[in-house]
Amino acid sequence: MSNLKISNSLTGSKDLFKPIDPKNITMYVCGPTVYADPHVGNGRSLIVFDLLYRILIKLYGTKNITYVRNITDVDDKIIEISKKKNISIDKITSDITKIFNRNVKDLNCLKPTKEPKATDYIKEMIKMIESLIKKNLAYVNNGHVYFLISGFKNYGKLSNKKLDDLVAGSRIEISKLKKNPLDFILWKPALIDEPGWESTWGRGRPGWHLECSVMSEKYLGKTFDIHGGGLDLLFPHHENEIAQSCANNSTDVLANYWVHNGFLTMNKEKMSKSLGNIETISKVLEMYNGQVIRLALLSAHYKQPLDWNANILKQSKATLEKWYELYDEGESEIDNSEIFSCLLDDLNTPKYFAKLHELYNIASKGDKTSRVKFNDACRLIGIFNQKKEVLVKQKQDASSIDKNYILQKIEERIKARSAGDFKLADKIRDELSKNGIAIKDKDNRTEWEYK
Ligand SMILES: [Zn+2]
Repeated sequence: MSNLKISNSLTGSKDLFKPIDPKNITMYVCGPTVYADPHVGNGRSLIVFDLLYRILIKLYGTKNITYVRNITDVDDKIIEISKKKNISIDKITSDITKIFNRNVKDLNCLKPTKEPKATDYIKEMIKMIESLIKKNLAYVNNGHVYFLISGFKNYGKLSNKKLDDLVAGSRIEISKLKKNPLDFILWKPALIDEPGWESTWGRGRPGWHLECSVMSEKYLGKTFDIHGGGLDLLFPHHENEIAQSCANNSTDVLANYWVHNGFLTMNKEKMSKSLGNIETISKVLEMYNGQVIRLALLSAHYKQPLDWNANILKQSKATLEKWYELYDEGESEIDNSEIFSCLLDDLNTPKYFAKLHELYNIASKGDKTSRVKFNDACRLIGIFNQKKEVLVKQKQDASSIDKNYILQKIEERIKARSAGDFKLADKIRDELSKNGIAIKDKDNRTEWEYK
């Protein structure tokens, strides 16, 4: 028995974690839709669940955990981009998956046990739809198959909302083909130039929610321990996963603990592709080490919104550089239960960081045990994974740029701006930014600094 407590969206309270089988802890986390460069909002979810995975490993051992994170490689958004850019779907999904994997590595996230791709499970998805239709839990209309909400009495339990409120408050796809506005798509017909698979209801593709039900059951069983994802997935995605799986399997719960991380905002506005205020992980990685991003994303409690701005990165960078003064190579076995208990309390990273600062202060005065504990505590949250030289080198790279070159570029940018060529001006700013130089326009002057 562990003392791990986690906030559970299903019960609305902070619950003691009791696994179904301590010898096989099961966790499913909704992974990326591979249609565009992952942004820092995606990064937050990745890192939060990586931290939870690390805690579970410490409590139960790697071999006793099955952690599944899927890859959505068939989706309307992917098809849309493919048509718009005239690039094949395969190329888009494989390119973005590569970028995603690189980001994951740079952010020092551990590899899940399984990373199934949706398109490898179409057969199983078709089977599940057939089963739902047979049980009168789904219906076919004009090549579409819908899940029948009225056939599942617990709909809305996870999001804790009444059906009428759900209809009023959400972006529900309106369609004359549906019996109830909340009925959701299990299968939709594909146009000739779109990817599709043959089925009894015609050539088409599965609805998005279905893949998670199928892949979680395949690897974790009909009921498993933890299901995670960003807060934006709670409704309708997770609610629909529960409806499909529980209705089809006649079970009460799909997962016992539903964990959701809060939104990432950008200067207080929700970061999302549709608002156009996203920052990709790759872009931030050009400027900052993955550990800096990791620290920044863990600085607030995972359930709280986190505002992403230049300050948070600067602060994390300064902290990391300070902490690296006490970096020692090699892992050590030491009792670190006092600081670890902060993480057991619903992954309380702000408290953990406060304790880390305390440990640092004692260790920097020469206390050897504290120094060992400090190193161990840093590694536990996924930092201190690179040698000190790597960080130092990155710092030097930025400060070794010729100052005449910077001034010349700033001059070119001023000229471009006064000539009204803002495209060129932005290009120069980006080029400097890539080289670690931040510029700021102030009172008709341009100032610059190393980031
Ligand atoms: Zn999912």
